Amino acid sequence: MTLQGNWDRTTLTRRRLLGWAGMGAGGLAVAASGYSPARASARPFFADYPFTLGVASGDPLPDGVVLWTRLAPDPLAPDGNGGLPPETYGVRFEVAEDERFSRVVRRGAVEATPELAHSVHVEVQGLGPGREYFYRFKAGPEISPVGRTKTAPALGAAVDRFAAAFASSQHYITGFYAAYRDMPAQELDLVVHLGDYIYADASGGRDDPDAVRFHSGPRATTLEEYRVRYGDYKTDADLRAAHAAAAFVVTFDDHEVKNGWADESARNTTPEAFLRQRAAAFQAYYEHMPLRRTSIPRGPDMQLYRRISFGDMVEFNVLDTRQYRDRQTDCSGEETANGYCASATDPGRTILGEEQERWLLDGLGSSTARWNVLAQQIIFAQKDNAANPDKQEYVGGGDQWDGYKADRDTVLEFVQARRPSNPMVITGDIHTNNVYDLKADFSDPDSETLGSEFVGTSISSGGDPGNPTTTDGDRTNDPHHLFFNNNRGYVRCTLTPERWQTDFRIVTTVLAPEAPVSTLATFVVEDGQPGAKRA
Ligand code: CA
Repeated sequence: MTLQGNWDRTTLTRRRLLGWAGMGAGGLAVAASGYSPARASARPFFADYPFTLGVASGDPLPDGVVLWTRLAPDPLAPDGNGGLPPETYGVRFEVAEDERFSRVVRRGAVEATPELAHSVHVEVQGLGPGREYFYRFKAGPEISPVGRTKTAPALGAAVDRFAAAFASSQHYITGFYAAYRDMPAQELDLVVHLGDYIYADASGGRDDPDAVRFHSGPRATTLEEYRVRYGDYKTDADLRAAHAAAAFVVTFDDHEVKNGWADESARNTTPEAFLRQRAAAFQAYYEHMPLRRTSIPRGPDMQLYRRISFGDMVEFNVLDTRQYRDRQTDCSGEETANGYCASATDPGRTILGEEQERWLLDGLGSSTARWNVLAQQIIFAQKDNAANPDKQEYVGGGDQWDGYKADRDTVLEFVQARRPSNPMVITGDIHTNNVYDLKADFSDPDSETLGSEFVGTSISSGGDPGNPTTTDGDRTNDPHHLFFNNNRGYVRCTLTPERWQTDFRIVTTVLAPEAPVSTLATFVVEDGQPGAKRA
């Protein structure tokens, strides 16, 4: 496809007047100059506005970023095709230094094919490091909303300040996304999504007395159904706005596929059937996320763990704790020792898989970043599940790192021996805010503190807490557990060479998208001094 000159100003202006960032702006208002009115009226290019799912960017590098959109005039069409026939569409993109696109620095064209649900993943190159850019797409006469993104600073370059948010668990029917609504104003360098972006197992909520809003149902198991589920979620304007405001780095947890899955096993299904389902779920995930082509699924396999660096400031080791793990243990009938059942400590069991573990340790060992982050799904620290105050019991941690103690020991022993700079873990999944010190020996409070874990609450999953609770210090037997809170929200992290600051941003309620968001608590970690402190 050849490129034309500047996009037609008249079309843009009209689109703005018509509210072209919204859904259903209509594809018929195209009789502006630059396009043949005769052709437009004879056969509208799209029956309706095709950029209903918004735009996104992700996985920034010093010279580029992934730009994403998907053409879907009818995003909830049950056949999963977004209201388009099985044809290939040309999509143009523009990247500019300014929001008005007067200084365009990159322009190109790609194809949106029915095989990938007319999604587009443009890996833009040739941009400057550590810079803000704006981008948009055009298909036929239709122009997408404008997205803002930022490239990573040059490798090793000195960085003064880096601001990121992390988010997880955004069950659509249990709440509005006031947490996402708060993000665009934060001028973030990055948003890290730690999983449970959709809830594939959920019905539409009409049979759920606690549902705050509804989406299509029932549970998703086929490619068509997964595609529609992403459509359901991305009809949320606040989610689209958060994507349009900053680059995302994403990883999945279980609910993007099926609750509690581990490698090829999941409840109430056979490995053969589950791998077919997993392939469909992975494809729909790729189709709706700003991922690089290295993450295009091959059947039921998908390369998702990867490293993303921001100058000399921070390196994110984005983990996949689902695809390579051994099945969760329920410890039934097993002897316990020091709080763990035998299978939880079995050195033959893994959560990372051998290859990912080696990759992680290699990265931690060679990193020159000030802050070294494991961006991952489930609680890493040892967690006491005992109601009995005299006894530590971790046997309930089947899905978390407690159920895979050997892998955690390997990571912590490596950290203790090799001393990567400021190891940090950021976590989702559990729908509560928590702060943990990571100990050389969790059962010995006097043992060395090696790093910190910040667990971020859910965006919406679980709905408003019945009994809002905030606790400084531990409620059970874990002196390394420094903080607990069960409100909804997200986490903002502000990094400088001297200090990591975590702000727990909570919403007053998930019953309204415009609910106020505020900082409940702030913790800091000083460079070279492991352990988090309440600010
Ligand atoms: Ca989860």
